[in-house]
Amino acid sequence: MLTFYNEQHSQHQGRDAVVRGQPVPCAEAPARVDAVLAELGRRGLGRIVTPHGVPLMSLERIHTPRYLHFLRNAWSDWVALDPANAGQDAVPSVWPVRTLRSDVEPDNFRAKLGLYSMDSGTPLTAGTWSAAKTGADCAVNAAHALRLGERGAFVLSRPPGHHAGADFYGGYCFLNNAALAAQHMLDDGARKVAILDLDYHHGNGTQSIFYQRDDVLVISLHADPRFAYPYYLGHADERGAGAGLGYNLNLPLPAGTTATAWMAALETACIRLGSFGADALVVSLGVDTFAGDPSSRFALHSADYLRVGERLAWLGLPTAFIFEGGHAVKELGVNVINVLEGFETAL
Ligand SMILES: [Zn+2]
Repeated sequence: MLTFYNEQHSQHQGRDAVVRGQPVPCAEAPARVDAVLAELGRRGLGRIVTPHGVPLMSLERIHTPRYLHFLRNAWSDWVALDPANAGQDAVPSVWPVRTLRSDVEPDNFRAKLGLYSMDSGTPLTAGTWSAAKTGADCAVNAAHALRLGERGAFVLSRPPGHHAGADFYGGYCFLNNAALAAQHMLDDGARKVAILDLDYHHGNGTQSIFYQRDDVLVISLHADPRFAYPYYLGHADERGAGAGLGYNLNLPLPAGTTATAWMAALETACIRLGSFGADALVVSLGVDTFAGDPSSRFALHSADYLRVGERLAWLGLPTAFIFEGGHAVKELGVNVINVLEGFETAL
């Protein structure tokens, strides 16, 4: 399996997140990817590749030009407001909720931050664009490798992507790597692509991007949004709209979900994937379903991830694994690489 590694990932490092009014260290940190890279080296699971840069036009296949323009320039705009801003992250504080307009981009930078974001827990930093763009490069390169005949590819990158929509960031995500990979394969001649999101949190960005389309099936297994982020999307009755009706499948699961119950949901997902007839699969690989993960109320254990990879291999599809969430840094490498090894050894 080829791994496309984002060497720029550590350029993006949020200082703090605010939890119950107190600043705490940002959980989405470079140590996450470092842990997976170290385990990848220990297990010797294929070649590590540096991606070629892709043109902005590739990103515009998923994200709006207006949003990309904002994201590229956000840091310099932030520092232009006040040179002292260079020492602190840009964090939004006001949002266009219901009844307010989001079609007119305000001049005020603070208002722009709110227009293009969904929460205050996703700090924008000096290196955010460079890290996110290189991650997107990795995703498009991985998709291209599958089209050239690779059976599996792994995108080892951060920041993650599945909460990012066509024109907004949030949930630590800025560019939707899974969506970019899927779109690239379609643009390169694939007829249908499926995205399977295994992260503990619902992939609201991915769902919203493809909600009205029937060429990308989006399936997500996740914690019920009634108690888990992103709270406002991810319910079972969201099945797609227009041409996309029937091409979005949410499998929300309760707190305390065991590996047995989670695997049963994975089986439901695999059966739907089988009937869709995809040419390729993109897996949003978050392992925050792990029992020891600070954000998880599920109970998967490290050995379970081998079985996940094995089950996915039996789908018989060229598969791109995109690294998403997981914050139990000590076990993160083992859990992620177990999925990849399960996939490789099942073949
Ligand atoms: Zn997550």
